[in-house]
Amino acid sequence: MSSTMHRGIGMTSQRTRERLIQRLRDEGIGNRAVLDAIRHTPRHIFVDEALASRAYEDTALPIGQGQTISQPFIVARMTELLLEVASMETVLEIGTGSGYQTAILSRLVKRVYSVERIKSLHLQARRRFQELHIRNIRLQHRDGGMGLPEYAPFDGILVTAAPEGIPLALVEQLRVGGCMILPIGNRSEQVLVRVIRTRTGYEKELLEQVVFVPLLGGTL
Ligand code: SAH
Repeated sequence: MSSTMHRGIGMTSQRTRERLIQRLRDEGIGNRAVLDAIRHTPRHIFVDEALASRAYEDTALPIGQGQTISQPFIVARMTELLLEVASMETVLEIGTGSGYQTAILSRLVKRVYSVERIKSLHLQARRRFQELHIRNIRLQHRDGGMGLPEYAPFDGILVTAAPEGIPLALVEQLRVGGCMILPIGNRSEQVLVRVIRTRTGYEKELLEQVVFVPLLGGTL
């Protein structure tokens, strides 16, 4: 094990993590596989050392470049919603960020593809997966607005930054029966949406209100 895996010991104890799991249960997360994935994924590895002591609080935290690691509840909720509909072997994530959501998915599906537009975040996530010996994640540095057509179709797509509407390019990269979870809206008001690809188009279901950083074009 590398030294980074030992940092913050005490604050990141099993008891602290169990408290988070209990809180997620109380808030309505019922999928045991999802709760187990969260229990066994060291969130403190995905934030800056200075914030490691807060890693098991149910809150979003800054990860640099004006971006945030999503709140555990929202990670759990989106993952649960994704797994509910269809069997998931290959999942595409748009917005790797810290890589935390990616790591959770990697415990639950066969292969995860994740794209990030900010190179420093992409490289940092790659290092973390090496450190954690996670091998079923494929990362790409690019603008994910157009998805990853060369690896489509996907069983699932999870978008962790908010576009203003449903990007059709992404819907087209779902297999029929596949499912996409994404926030849509502007900076002040967004709603979580579940999209199911059908033979002729898609069905959508509007869920709860959420707050995400915006989906932006281009790469940095
Ligand atoms: N799942 C991440 C969430 C990070 S915030 C986590 O839990 O850490 C959302 C991320 O989406 C940011 O890192 C942002 O840079 C990225 N992003 C925004 N627009 C994007 C785009 N068009 N393509 C790829 N990544 C994008």
